[in-house]
Amino acid sequence: MSFIDKHNSGFNTRAVHTGQELDPVYGAVVPPIHLSSTYAPEAIGKLRKGYDYGRGTNPTRDALQDQIAGLETGHSDTGFAYTFSSGLAAETALLMAACQPGDRVVVGNDVYGGTYRLLEKVLGPWNLQHQVVDMSDLDQVRNALATGKTRVLWVETPTNPMMKIADIAALAQLAHEYDTLLVVDNTFATPYLQLPLKLGADVVVHSTTKYMGGHSDTIGGAVVTENEALAQAINFQQFAAGASNSPMDSYLVTRGLKTLGVRMDRHVQNAQAISQWLVEHPGVEKVHYPGLEDHPGYEIAKKQMTGFGGMVSVQFKAGVEATRKVAESTHVFRLAESLGGVESLLNYPTAMTHASVEGTELAVPGNLIRLSVGIEDIDDLIGDLDQALKGL
Ligand SMILES: *Cc1c(COP(=O)(O)O)cnc(C)c1O
Repeated sequence: MSFIDKHNSGFNTRAVHTGQELDPVYGAVVPPIHLSSTYAPEAIGKLRKGYDYGRGTNPTRDALQDQIAGLETGHSDTGFAYTFSSGLAAETALLMAACQPGDRVVVGNDVYGGTYRLLEKVLGPWNLQHQVVDMSDLDQVRNALATGKTRVLWVETPTNPMMKIADIAALAQLAHEYDTLLVVDNTFATPYLQLPLKLGADVVVHSTTKYMGGHSDTIGGAVVTENEALAQAINFQQFAAGASNSPMDSYLVTRGLKTLGVRMDRHVQNAQAISQWLVEHPGVEKVHYPGLEDHPGYEIAKKQMTGFGGMVSVQFKAGVEATRKVAESTHVFRLAESLGGVESLLNYPTAMTHASVEGTELAVPGNLIRLSVGIEDIDDLIGDLDQALKGL
């Protein structure tokens, strides 16, 4: 039992307190990290507190799962969250739980490269079919769903790295017309900015490696749903296939989540300022940020998000060579894969995060860089970009 009112507390109160009961032994305000792999029963077949072996259940992981369920659903007693050793492990467990060999998944045409690789190279050979569509085009989605029985419609919004926006409520309605589960990868927006389950989605997945962890020091993933039968199947995958996350990684995400709201406010503020600065730069061909009024998804983003996020992609007029040079010329923005940490990162998707989709319909333009805008001072971030873009 939690000591806060889960139904009536605000996001930040739930983020700080859910799953964080006072430690009954010493009164520690921050619950201890439970590292033990095994738990002694009182007698054979009689567990003390329901815990027996750490792959299946662990108090530190349970606290994180409660915290995430509470944030994604708004009140943690209707949601079930399960956490995994990576975002891709979470996705694998979800797909194994929701699908059978022969089933079909319809997936957005610029989903995270690793999600596509999982469908194409890992689950494809196990006879899970997939079809790629543009999720911002509802007619295309309808045609794909009408083509053949589809078990899962897999959506990312905003997308990575093109920052396209899909209308979650409209897709949920469409998916349910065809008896299909709508899965939303909410890694970019986080529950602070967007609540897909409230918009009609059946399942939310996360790479907790990113904004939820928030400090680029842990790898993890999560699946959240209010569908109890599916939740049990995912829980079984976590236990029986064994990709659950460790106590230490669980703790790091719990700690990160406590400051998610304040971090996101700052990420959004900085990303908006950088987008507006980039738009004015003579060397820039196109800025992809849903908070710009001429972004094709602006109106939908405004409707379904409470902020436009911390990710910005930008294309340069000067082409591939000049773009690669920009990518290697920043100092505050570090050239590295991943995103969502307090520090600003710059990624060249064509040769880094999205190398696995090179040559497919998911390929990213070679004159594009993706910025994960951190929480540093805006003048330093813009100053850094300004010197890297000199001469463009
Ligand atoms: C990083 C990422 C993933 C995969 O998560 P890992 O923790 O790296 O396995 C999935 N979806 C999105 C949108 C991501 O950014």
